[in-house]
Amino acid sequence: MAGGEVENAQTATPGGDTIFGKILRKEIPAKFVYEDDQCVAFHDVSPQAPTHILQGLDKSGFRLVINDGKDGAQSVYHLHIHILGGRQLKWPPG
Ligand code: IMP
Repeated sequence: MAGGEVENAQTATPGGDTIFGKILRKEIPAKFVYEDDQCVAFHDVSPQAPTHILQGLDKSGFRLVINDGKDGAQSVYHLHIHILGGRQLKWPPG
């Protein structure tokens, strides 16, 4: 994606195909860490923490994030969960 997440979220809209659809159909590459017939987990292309997977767990702690809508900085309208970990995360997240 060209801009940052907040910038991309200003123009992203629900419906239709998404970059994640292309990843699921293996039309574009991704670094998969898990895959079954119900669910996949792969590394975020622009990691916001040492561990940033779009699903995996980090034993010293982690944060699950679902961004929703423009104000939530959602840029890809395909249900997904961010797993952030591998460093001390701050609160509030901004
Ligand atoms: P959202 O902003 O919550 O919708 O999250 C979308 C996430 O998808 C962002 O963290 C992006 O960095 C990530 N992303 C966008 N394109 C790709 C890609 O091609 N591969 C892996 N992650 C991607």
